[in-house]
This record gives sequence, structure tokens and C-alpha cells, in this order.
Amino acid sequence: MVQVLSVASECAPLVKTGGLADVVGALPAAMAGQGDTLRTLIPGYPGVLKAVGKGRVVVKFKDLFGAAAEIIAVDHAGLDLLILRADHLFDRMGGPYVDVSGNDWPDNAERFAALSFAAAHVAAKGADGWRPDVVHGHDWQAGLIPEYLAGLNCDVPFVFTIHNIAFHGNAPGDRVDALGLDPARFHAHAYEFWGQISALKAGLMGAAKISTVSQTYAEELMTPHFGMGMDGVLQHRRADLVGIVNGIDTDVWDPASDPAIKPYSTLKGKAANTRALRAEFGLPKSNGPLCVLVSRLSEQKGIDLLLQALPALLDRGGQLALLGSGDAGLEVALHEAAAKHPGVSVKIGYDEALSHRMIAGGDAILVPSRFEPCGLTQLYGLRYGTIPLVTLTGGLADTIINASPAALARKVATGVQVAPITADALAGGFNRLCDLHAQPKVWQAMGRNAMKQPVGWDTSAARYHTLYRDAAPADV
Ligand code: ADP
Repeated sequence: MVQVLSVASECAPLVKTGGLADVVGALPAAMAGQGDTLRTLIPGYPGVLKAVGKGRVVVKFKDLFGAAAEIIAVDHAGLDLLILRADHLFDRMGGPYVDVSGNDWPDNAERFAALSFAAAHVAAKGADGWRPDVVHGHDWQAGLIPEYLAGLNCDVPFVFTIHNIAFHGNAPGDRVDALGLDPARFHAHAYEFWGQISALKAGLMGAAKISTVSQTYAEELMTPHFGMGMDGVLQHRRADLVGIVNGIDTDVWDPASDPAIKPYSTLKGKAANTRALRAEFGLPKSNGPLCVLVSRLSEQKGIDLLLQALPALLDRGGQLALLGSGDAGLEVALHEAAAKHPGVSVKIGYDEALSHRMIAGGDAILVPSRFEPCGLTQLYGLRYGTIPLVTLTGGLADTIINASPAALARKVATGVQVAPITADALAGGFNRLCDLHAQPKVWQAMGRNAMKQPVGWDTSAARYHTLYRDAAPADV
């Protein structure tokens, strides 16, 4: 049994901008099944503090990057939480990383350095008499933890999980002192990255073990195209790098009991949800597949490719219902497409319940990402018998069985994979999807296969347990 301090900038259901939150929120229950105990340390954003109410103060800091701060312990939604209450850093309107206008907070480096320092402090000095055997940090916001552990002479091992390498958490090189880092370690073998301080690199260099959220992404990360400058560092650490695919919370995402939908346990039950979804999105009846997409709107997600390939879907009677928010230019382009095509309907915003209705009501779910470390919505799609159409990258490559002639003959196909990642190939993918949809027996067999896929946490939790054991001292 390993005692783990899990440290992240997001945790569902309290604060979420993407898949990181789902994973951090799901991990404690998943790991309990392995006998491991996780306490989760997150920042005390206003929404978090409001939701959890008053907790017990377990650590006090006289001066944490500019003012007094404390860690409070509280149980909430089945999570054993430690919350860093540092109002000078986190008590702000806006998102976890950006202000209300969408600009990065100028002191993001200090904000998440504070989170990382607090984690190292708990590991070194304890909170409430509790100390972890392993600290598990997620993404760059937790990357400085090994630097602070070293500064506190603490040998608790650090495990680092990369959910998305695109975000580096860089700060100018002249902030070494301000961030309380050891200037002697401002070099290429520690946290220096092309003259800057890189929290991500600090985590990668200082971790006992590194994981990322799919096997294919682990391999991609070591290439210049996907490594985003960190490919060399990851090659250097390859002996300690593993890919562990994300699971989903199969209680929250269960078509048989989902309170947001008309529940179903066989494919037949989808039809009522599809009708309701068409009505909700104002889409006319059609014989083609109703495709849904739920996503952040960013370059990564390939929305521009989708817009270019869209005629191939619409010409076959297919339709698109999309929910997302993010890049303003993409939002405008999507509204334009919806105004032009009766088969396209778009809702801009973030809406958890609507995302459930979409995944239940869609015939197919689209994930046309340029890169995708794991991806969660294709997993929801599998569980709901909603056929994923995905690009061949990262976790999308690992979790979907492409409807190749061989896979169809063996009756194991669960979706359509598109390669290379171009608008032309995506248009070809839409044609294949429509061909399959036009063959009800084949389509239903795929839907049944999809619903049978093991998308929960069991296998992956066992692998995280091994990772913790490999990192932890021998006597744990
Ligand atoms: P990423 O972490 O890159 O955003 P993932 O597929 O790993 O991508 O996770 C995205 C998570 O956020 C999923 O749970 C998805 O359902 C959810 N999500 C994204 N955009 C929205 C939205 N506009 N409304 C509701 N849920 C959303």
C-alpha cells in the first residue's frame, strides 16, 4: 500500500478545463482498488473554496511567494483534499490560468511554484502528521516539485505524469531567486531550457519515474514533431518513461444510469436520445450519421481541418452538432459554417450535462486532433455505442480499432481512424463513416463492440500502482 500525494492545478468535479481534471479526480478511487491512498493537493481557487466549505488548517506558511498562506484538509465528493489557500495568488475572477479576458496571469510561474513548494513541504515536513511515500505531480504546474524537494533535503520520490507536453510553464531566467530555486542548478541538466526556467523540464529531469497518458504518445514525445522541444529530454529519460492510457469514470459515464439522458443499455435505446439531440440542436431529420464533437477549440483539436472536410460529411446526409469554447477565430468560423449549412449546429460554451446528451444522442463522435495525448471523448463514445472517428495519433491510436477490412471481417472494429492528419484524409474518413453507417448490420456490430470495450480504470490503475512501487523506497 503506497501513500501518495497527488498534485495538480485541476481536479474534477471542483475545477476543470480539460481531461487533466477528470484523471486527477478519478485517480484516488481507481487507486484505492489497488490498496493505495491518494491525497490530492490543488490550489484554492474561489470556486473550490466555495464548494468545499471550511476545512481544517493543517499547514501554515508565514510567507509563500509574497504573503501568508495555509493548507486546509477537507473531504469532498469522495476526495481526500489538501487545498492550498493563498488568496494573493488564487483568489481571482477568471480561470485557473487566465484572467476574464483570456490572458495568462502574469504571475503564473509564482502561482504554480507556490503549489509545487507546498507539495514539497508536505512531503518533507508532513501535514497533520501524514507524509506521503511518493509525490505524484501532473503537468508543468507540478514540475518544480523535485527542485523544492531537493532544497528541503527531502528524498521522497517524485513521479511525473505528462497530460499534454504543449504547455511548458516557462519563466524568464532572471526569476531564479524570485521562485526560490537553486541558482547552481540553472543549467541544461536540471531546470534551464534555452535560457529560461522550465517547470516542465524540471519535472522531467527530477522525476524518479515519468508517465504519459498513452503508449503511442510516449513514443511520439521522443520525436521532434510531437516533443515540442522536449524530445531530447524525453529520449534522455526513456528508461523511466511509460505510457499508461487514461480510464474514464464508468459510473459517471454509464448510459444505463446517466441522469442527463434517456438511459439505455442496448443500442436500441440510443434512438430516443438521437431524436432529442436533433431537436435540441435544431437539426432536421436525416438518414446520414449525426456526428457530435465536444472539445476545447484550439489548434490542437483540428477544428480547422474538420471545417475543410465538412462537405464530404454533409454531401452524404451527415450532420454535425458541436459544443466547444476557446479560440475566438474558430468560434466565428464555426458560427459561419452553421449559418451556411442546415446540417451543422454549434453551441459555444462549456456544458457538462449537454456533453452527456450529445455523446448519448450522436451516431458518431469526432476527434480530429493534430495530436492527442490520450483523449477522453472517444472513450465516452465507446461506452455509449457512439462510433468514434479519430485521427491516428496518441491515445486515439491506442483506444480505437479501425474499421479496416480485416477488423470488420473479424468483427472487432470499434471506429474509424484517419491518417495522415489532413483535411483530405478526414474527408476520406467521413466517406468511410457514411459507408459503414449505410450498412445497419455492420454499424450495429461496431456499436456493440464499442460498448464492450474496457474503458474503466482497472488495467491502468494496476500500472500506476507498479509505477508508484518502482519509485517508492524498498520498505513501502
Ligand atoms: P483536453 O484535456 O485536451 O481538453 P480530453 O479529451 O482529454 O482533452 O478531455 C476533455 C474533457 O473536457 C472531456 O471530459 C470533455 O468532455 C470535456 N469538455 C471539453 N470541452 C467541453 C465543453 N465545451 N463542454 C463540456 N465538456 C467539455
